[in-house]
Amino acid sequence: MAAPRPEFFSADGPEAARWGEERRAMVATLRAMGIRDPRVLAAFEGVPRHRFVPAPERDLAYADTPLPIGLGQTISQPYMVAAMTEALQLTGGEKVLEIGTGSGYQAAILSCLAAKVVTVERHRALGERAWALLAEFTASGGPGFARVTGVVGDGTLGCPEHAPYDAIVVTAASPAVPEPLLRQLADGGRLVVPVGGHGVQTLERHRRQGDQIVSERLMDCVFVPLIGQFGWKE
Ligand code: SAM
Repeated sequence: MAAPRPEFFSADGPEAARWGEERRAMVATLRAMGIRDPRVLAAFEGVPRHRFVPAPERDLAYADTPLPIGLGQTISQPYMVAAMTEALQLTGGEKVLEIGTGSGYQAAILSCLAAKVVTVERHRALGERAWALLAEFTASGGPGFARVTGVVGDGTLGCPEHAPYDAIVVTAASPAVPEPLLRQLADGGRLVVPVGGHGVQTLERHRRQGDQIVSERLMDCVFVPLIGQFGWKE
């Protein structure tokens, strides 16, 4: 990952040192909780999470907790973003699809770790806020955010115009694995998705190997519902 230029953080003014310290403490927590991939940890150190958190909640930006972002949606807990990202096993050259842009934070993390990121959000207002933030960081020297393409729509259908994908991450909980996402995986591609009812779900990883899909259960998790044709009905 290219290092962020100093002016990337300069908009924080005198607060920059405080946010930097909190960000490093968050990364230490992620390491202590078992996140090992050094590229993932570096991305978490490089992306200013507080800018993706709306002002009323900003003081908690680096706490290991989900936070509200409006329209009943959340920016996910840092550990869960890190665990899902690590499970994608990115090495730098991949095309990644994210379903559920939300705040734009995970898209920013992914853009530090892959060649191209397509991110789909069903709420236009959330998507547009996230893409404006990502564009702002690109303009101020942020690492890789220009690699992100934002789309408004039903992500349970995937995004066929940019398929196939080396990695797909779904950041909302689905009653079952959305079939179109499996179809849009490249050979060797990984799909990481929370599956289950309202309440607790299981984070699953599905890997395409030719015509076969090999599936693993990774951990318990709790997500807002994935609403769409191959998810929950509204
Ligand atoms: N990745 C986000 C971030 O970094 O802030 C967190 C996402 S939030 C937990 C889940 C998001 O999925 C919400 O913004 C919600 O509107 C979105 N969502 C739910 N169903 C969707 C669908 N079918 N297509 C696209 N987005 C969807």
